Amino acid sequence: MRELHVKEIENAVREMCISSNYNLPEDVYKKLSESKNTEESEIGRDILENIIKNADLAKENRVPICQDTGMATLFIELGQEVFLTGGDFEDAVNEGVRKGYEEGYLRKSIVRDPLLRDNTGDNTPAVIHLKIVPGDRVKIVVAPKGFGSENMSRIKMLKPSDGMKGVEDFVIQAVSEAGPNPCPPIFVGVGIGGTFEKVAETAKRALLRNVDDCNPDPSLAEMEKRLLLKINDLGIGPQGLGGRTTAIAVKVETYPTHIAGLPAAVAINCHATRHEERIL
Ligand code: SF4
Repeated sequence: MRELHVKEIENAVREMCISSNYNLPEDVYKKLSESKNTEESEIGRDILENIIKNADLAKENRVPICQDTGMATLFIELGQEVFLTGGDFEDAVNEGVRKGYEEGYLRKSIVRDPLLRDNTGDNTPAVIHLKIVPGDRVKIVVAPKGFGSENMSRIKMLKPSDGMKGVEDFVIQAVSEAGPNPCPPIFVGVGIGGTFEKVAETAKRALLRNVDDCNPDPSLAEMEKRLLLKINDLGIGPQGLGGRTTAIAVKVETYPTHIAGLPAAVAINCHATRHEERIL
């Protein structure tokens, strides 16, 4: 058993809340920069230029990429040979979020009660997805999620007979209806299978993949390529002002499901697709 003090988890979460809000992941930055060379619309190219300039300024001056610094969403893999000491695991994560948002001057966007709408004042609680895995390490991914794009994410319980075409039509409809709201160019995560709640998590996890990778299953890799082309043919463009760069990536992930169902989910992230990973 390897002992790990929860303070190390708190510190890592604190640091990553700040740095993920200041720095765009390199692969996302590179893809957005490359898109400037392929975008056909002049206004689209101008917007991409400004998005890149904004990311550069945020990095240089250590300020958030966007005013919406998001709901802290964490994907944690906890090795089953790790023995956590010094306190409660979830408290440590939330303390990291609290300190990170305070010290990084990040907007506090979380309301305690979704109906009464009183702000918690420290951006807690986080949304934590925890998996117990083999080994003696802890992998933490912090992904601040802005709600301009979160509000445009969709879920649908399709029929098995709807098949791949049904899923693709649903994805295109979701992106088309989202229009300019999720601050395109967007990153699209598609989840297929599982149950109602599993498919949403699967789609969300897909957003953590590298912009340039493709699904190891050839038919899903083809589906990703096809969906990207179809989305970019919609003409929504950067910030919805027209153009071909509506999405920079589409990632599809699947999970086994029930004989009677075909759940599908579309998780949309904006051009400020932020996430950072650390292994303790
Ligand atoms: S959708 Fe993204 S870029 Fe747009 S306001 Fe929200 S966090 Fe910022």
